[in-house]
Amino acid sequence: MHLRALVLLTMAFLASSVCASPQTRNVVLVTLDGVRVQEVFGGLDEIIAAHSALQHYSDMETVRPRFIGSTAEARREALMPFLWKELVPRGVIFGNRDRGSVMKVQNPFCFSAPGYTEMLTGAPRAEVDSNDVRRYPHQTALEVVSRELQLPFGAVAQIGSWDGFASAAASGDGLILTSGAYDPLPARFSTPEIDELVSLRKDVLGLWEEGSEDVLTLRIAQRYMRKQQTRLLWLGLGNSDDWSHADRYDRLLVYLNRADRLIGELWSTLQADERYRDRTTLVISTDHGRGLQGKDWSEHDCSIPGSEFIWAVVAGPDTPATGEARNTGELHQGQIAATLLQYFRIPAQALGPEARPPLPGTLVPRNSP
Ligand SMILES: [Zn+2]
Repeated sequence: MHLRALVLLTMAFLASSVCASPQTRNVVLVTLDGVRVQEVFGGLDEIIAAHSALQHYSDMETVRPRFIGSTAEARREALMPFLWKELVPRGVIFGNRDRGSVMKVQNPFCFSAPGYTEMLTGAPRAEVDSNDVRRYPHQTALEVVSRELQLPFGAVAQIGSWDGFASAAASGDGLILTSGAYDPLPARFSTPEIDELVSLRKDVLGLWEEGSEDVLTLRIAQRYMRKQQTRLLWLGLGNSDDWSHADRYDRLLVYLNRADRLIGELWSTLQADERYRDRTTLVISTDHGRGLQGKDWSEHDCSIPGSEFIWAVVAGPDTPATGEARNTGELHQGQIAATLLQYFRIPAQALGPEARPPLPGTLVPRNSP
């Protein structure tokens, strides 16, 4: 080959490989515990609303007019306007079975700890069969990113409203920064503002014993990301599951609407910060679905139909604006782990041969300008 042609070819190869590398530098995973595909894709579900309206403690009468609409599109935009008007048009959402996109858990339990483990380790793990707060030996995407990129402690973090999030985040103590339901942050990563929020978490009486208040958790994460550049954050929110278990559909709808707004605010603060602007990918998903009827929507396990269906949203500089994914076939919860890893150029196999591949079309190489 002529030398000049060889040089040009080499330059073209280098240019294409440079351009194929992700623009994402930071990734934020937000999980909303036990949020059904019915609400995400269809907004207010009249079957559950009718059940809720019969309960003397329900405020469905006041809540329902805020979220009704003649189409699924109108209802879901009323319920989660940031998700549907801002995020999905710039990214992709999986799990709408009406469009041929099915997303399921593969663990046989359909509750939290098995779900988060599958999501973060890339595959279902049979021995994770309870919600007991304990560690398992499987590596997670969070610890793999921290180790492979040799990041300083604190650059990968988990901040959440339940202690189970902290134990599911890594296979051992001290591998990444974790903060469960009421944990303070280590002093060198905290600020007086964060300390104040941590102390409020203890004072606010949650609906159940295990979880703290998501608004405070989210504000702590927001402040943390401002103080410390966070390359990979898992923000675990849990109050959607709390209100659902309490059979308060009215409160769940109000919660989802508020969580959507707060996630939107988090996203805007990241876009206003040059360390994160246009270099951050946001992934949002859930650990399990729930029942489909008034009598069982508040519960979930794999014997209750509907509990296996989940959804996921991905948006960021490397994800084409596909909107609602169509005809994807069946996707699985374990694919989220490799989806997170790909933005750090780490293959799924880093989690073991059983790790599922990334969600399709969430990282598309850009053409050279
Ligand atoms: Zn639950």
